[in-house]
Order: sequence, then structure tokens, then C-alpha cells
Amino acid sequence: QSDDARAASIPRYIRVNTSCWTTEEAVHTFKSRGFELSDPFASSKGFARDEHIPDLLAFNPQTQFSDDPLFKEGKIILQDKASCFPAYILSPPASDESAVIDATAAPGNKTSHLSALMENKGKLFAFERDKKRFSTLRMMLAKARCQNVQPQNADFLATSPADPQYASVTHILLDPSCSGSGIVNRLDHLLETVIPEAENEGDHERLNKLAAFQLTMIKHAMKFPAVDRIVYSTCSIHAVENEHVVRRALKSEEAANGRFKLAAPNDVLPTWRRRGLAEEMDDPADALSLVRCSPGEDATNGFFVSLFVRENAHASQSP
Ligand code: SAM
Repeated sequence: QSDDARAASIPRYIRVNTSCWTTEEAVHTFKSRGFELSDPFASSKGFARDEHIPDLLAFNPQTQFSDDPLFKEGKIILQDKASCFPAYILSPPASDESAVIDATAAPGNKTSHLSALMENKGKLFAFERDKKRFSTLRMMLAKARCQNVQPQNADFLATSPADPQYASVTHILLDPSCSGSGIVNRLDHLLETVIPEAENEGDHERLNKLAAFQLTMIKHAMKFPAVDRIVYSTCSIHAVENEHVVRRALKSEEAANGRFKLAAPNDVLPTWRRRGLAEEMDDPADALSLVRCSPGEDATNGFFVSLFVRENAHASQSP
């Protein structure tokens, strides 16, 4: 199957930005424009509420929203379904005491999703080390009316876990640079910048370097004293960047010191059937705790999500 054929099997997803309005209001608005709740592939006017992610709507793949005033005002976010999984699985609490880190934030789709799930309460520290991408992030946060975010143009790895301002951080989202091998269509004009797909000979080395960086990020996140939940995600389909990184993180000194393990399968989007690759894990049963999306087969781009939790932590229930 070509990338074009796979892309055609992916609906045009929009996430309703609940920092601005409700999904019911959005549905009502689309109906008043002539859209109807029906199979999005059957007609150009069909749209549907997603069965896994609340506040996500699926439209016919041909539907364009990039010039839509709702998009320009930040009331809808053009975001692939799979890319909504990390924030939803992390399930940050919505309270004035909440403290959350988005370690790799730009362009900011997942940051604005976290902020909406937190109902704009508490503190959301959003790191982005690249200056240009940081300015895109700021623009995006303003447009999405995120009020609880403190964007930082800084390298997450240079941040000290002992810094008192992060002492109460309980949730971390890690969506670091990856090969991007799962992406078959680009859903928005603010591309989730990734490193071009590593397919050629010699690129094994490149994937290995990415995997080493991804592992370092997870191990760093595990050092924050109050962290109970860490989501690690990629838009890669390569086991090297996914199961292998998770496997190595589980065996790390940081995981042992922090008592981190994988969350139980029913804490990680249990209604989603495609799980991790059992043959790539030390304990095949661990694969049930991992979520995979296969491009062309799941009506999404290719994606991978894992959730580390601290043993005995009073972690909030997640979907
Ligand atoms: N989560 C973003 C979203 O959904 O919009 C996409 C993140 S993108 C895959 C990875 C981002 O992490 C890039 O913008 C990259 O510049 C940034 N990044 C990579 N390493 C970093 C680090 N050590 N500290 C902070 N940002 C980093």
C-alpha cells in the first residue's frame, strides 16, 4: 500500500479545544453548516465522534480546515487521532495543585491537549530547546488560549530534577524527536517536525543514535522526585525506537531507583486493540501495556505510546 493510499484511509481529525468551547457546541456548529453525524467516508458531509478520544471528531479525508475561522481562532486543533493518545493516556489531573511537564513541546498540539485536560488549572511546564520552534510553540499556545502553560526555551536534559520549581511535578510527557517513520499524511501546516525517515543503508546508526537519545530522556524524567507517571511516545514504527527503548528503560538504574514499571494494560487505553510487539520485549506480557498504531490499518498514522508508573504511587486512573 502506498503512503497516498494509506493517507486516504485516515479521516480528517479535529480535536475540539475544550479550553474555548464544548464538543456539543462544536457538533452543533458543524451540523448548522450542513454536516451530519454519519460515516465520514460515505459522504463529504459526514462526521463522527471518535470512540476512543473524547472531544475528537472525524471528517471525510477531503475536508479542509486550514482556512477555517474555527482553526484560525484556536477553537479546533488539526491533530491526528494517534497523536491525541499520549496526553489522554497521561491523564493529568485538573486541579490548582497540578504540576506537569511537557518535555518536548513544539509545535504544541500535545501541550494544548494537556492544558485542556487540566482545565487550564495548575502548572504545565513546556520545554522546547529549538529557538525557532519555541516561537511557533508560543504562538500556538496563545492561539489555543492556554493559560496554565509556562513555556521554556530550554533543553529538558539540562534541567535539574532537584530544582525546587519542579518538586511537585507528578506527570511528564515525553514525545521526543524520532525517525517519523509512521507518518503517512501531514495533517496540519505546523508539522510535527521529525527527522526524515531512516530507510537507507547506514541509517541503522542513525536510528540507534535516536534510540540512545530517547532512552536518555526517559531516564532523566525518572529522576524527578514526585513523578508518578511518564508517557513516552513516538511517531515511529521501528521497534528500535519503541519497544527496545522501553525495554532498556525498564532495566535502567533510574527505573530501579525510582521503582518505575510499565502501567497495567487496563490503565493504557484498554479499548485499543493493537498493542506492542511481544517478540521485541524481554517479557512478552509487557507488550500488552504498550499501544501501537499501524498506518493504513488503524485509520491513523503510525504511532507508539508507553506509560511508566511508579510502584505504590497513588496514580490517578487513566483511560
Ligand atoms: N509534542 C509535540 C507536539 O505534539 O506538537 C511534538 C514534539 S516533536 C516530535 C519533538 C520536539 O522536541 C522538537 O520540537 C525538538 O526540537 C524538541 N526537543 C528535542 N530534544 C529536546 C530536549 N532535549 N529538550 C527540549 N526539547 C527538545
